[in-house]
Amino acid sequence: MLLSPYRHFCGPARSWRCDTLKRMAQDSELRIAVIGAGPAGVYSSDIFLRQLKKLGDELGVGTQARIDLFEKLPVPFGLVRYGVAPDHPSIKFIASALEKTLDNPNIHLYCDVEFGKDVTIDELLDRYDAVLFATGAVKDKPLGLPGADLDGVYGAAKFVEWYDGYPTGAREWPLEAEEVAVIGGGNVAMDVARELMRNADDLKERTDIPDNVYEGIVKNKAKTLHLFIRRGVAQAKFSVQELREMEKLPGVQLIINEDDFELDDDTIEEAGKDKLTRQMVEELFAIREMAEDMEDDGDTDFEGNPADRKYYIHFNSAPTEVLGEDGKVTAIRVEKTETGADGKMHRTGVFEEYPVQAVYHAIGYRPEEVTGIAYDAKGAHLANANGDGRITVSAEDGEIRERLYATGWAKRGPVGLIGSTKSDALLIVTNMLEDLAKAAEGGRVAPDRDPESIDRLLESRGIKPIDFAGWKRIDAFERSEGAQEGREHKKVIEPEQMRSLAHAE
Ligand SMILES: Cc1cc2nc3c(=O)[nH]c(=O)nc-3n(C[C@H](O)[C@H](O)[C@H](O)COP(=O)(O)OP(=O)(O)OC[C@H]3O[C@@H](n4cnc5c(N)ncnc54)[C@H](O)[C@@H]3O)c2cc1C
Repeated sequence: MLLSPYRHFCGPARSWRCDTLKRMAQDSELRIAVIGAGPAGVYSSDIFLRQLKKLGDELGVGTQARIDLFEKLPVPFGLVRYGVAPDHPSIKFIASALEKTLDNPNIHLYCDVEFGKDVTIDELLDRYDAVLFATGAVKDKPLGLPGADLDGVYGAAKFVEWYDGYPTGAREWPLEAEEVAVIGGGNVAMDVARELMRNADDLKERTDIPDNVYEGIVKNKAKTLHLFIRRGVAQAKFSVQELREMEKLPGVQLIINEDDFELDDDTIEEAGKDKLTRQMVEELFAIREMAEDMEDDGDTDFEGNPADRKYYIHFNSAPTEVLGEDGKVTAIRVEKTETGADGKMHRTGVFEEYPVQAVYHAIGYRPEEVTGIAYDAKGAHLANANGDGRITVSAEDGEIRERLYATGWAKRGPVGLIGSTKSDALLIVTNMLEDLAKAAEGGRVAPDRDPESIDRLLESRGIKPIDFAGWKRIDAFERSEGAQEGREHKKVIEPEQMRSLAHAE
């Protein structure tokens, strides 16, 4: 429960001050800037307004606020639109829920406005009582293996940008390799591997992929895929949903090493302690059986149809080098590992080589760095006080910078599902309200309180933000293009087209 510091402030001797604060708080709106319209930014805006309604009077900050939500891309929703795989339509429905949240007169969307380039921290602090960074992540962590710079080594983030139609992403993708490797033990590795093994028509039918992605996948030559996971079956980080999607790839035979499933009692006991891990391990055992059936039935896919693609899953396999010739990938070298019940991995000195012509690494994302805000390289997030979202002077110095906050992946680092950004939001909003209640003037500390001042500033720089109505015009166009092909949506990918759709009255 949120404890109000305001209660201590309101002893009888101070009642005159309480009354003044209360009146001020009720008379004017708080002004909050949120940077990043991914799930963390949208949920936080919504939760801020709800919590303020509920607790604002008790806290002495009033119940009125205007939230301006800035997004550097021409469209909102961050990785929900540009990270989640196209064949996860159920997750894409989250975008509809986020959209409903944005349809709120107290939330003002400013897409196509980049913090750090179009507007500075001082300009925001002049106009907003608090600034919340929800800037997420888009880049890959580097692979850091010999051969990582060979032609044919790709970071998952870049490939995801291509298949999800990121506004500044590649428009063509070289899918020439017949044998490919994917490195990683989490859901992004699963997504990448699945899209590399997917049948283009199956994908098009079920998703919003644009034409260039469909045409690229039609020409995909991949026939063999090796997924390498450094640790064992009980230490992977796959969700059951992702595993089930892997099981149902038309034309794909799953092949899995039986030996990886000889788990000792301690490992089984350890895995059983966590519900999600236990469910994942159970699903992996089911996949092992399914793989046996596929082999027994004569190398078929999950429906018993002949398979023309092979998907190998290698646990306890740590890639050590990408091998090449003439600057191009030719193979990958992998060291067999053993993993104890405590999750500690040991190298065995036994190496294997697999011929591949492309290597995709999905070993983690790297959060955006934000101009003027310290970055905590160790935790891979913006520097904030022990994860409570209050921005600090540096990662080492815990001194808090007033009125600045972080949430979502910007606060926590690039781990966790969309749902976790909701719980982050509640924590951060609670802290923001506590701080606003302690501040002078009922939290109304920004000197420039004219809500149109930001519009004038942006206009003076030639910046034309895309608002909620502008996004709805893009969305309507995507729906109408999709409907012509019997699909729900078809993504617009070029930023200039988005701008002209959004600004067409
Ligand atoms: C490949 C991939 C697949 C995933 N699949 C799933 C899945 O299937 N299910 C699931 O639950 N989770 C999935 N996730 C995780 C999920 O995407 C994240 O938990 C969630 O998106 C994090 O939300 P966020 O708002 O913190 O960051 P983001 O979604 O990254 O949003 C940040 C926003 O801030 C904007 N921004 C950044 N810098 C600036 C700036 N300077 N000025 C203005 N705006 C800025 C960005 O453009 C972006 O829109 C996936 C993640 C990845 C990478």
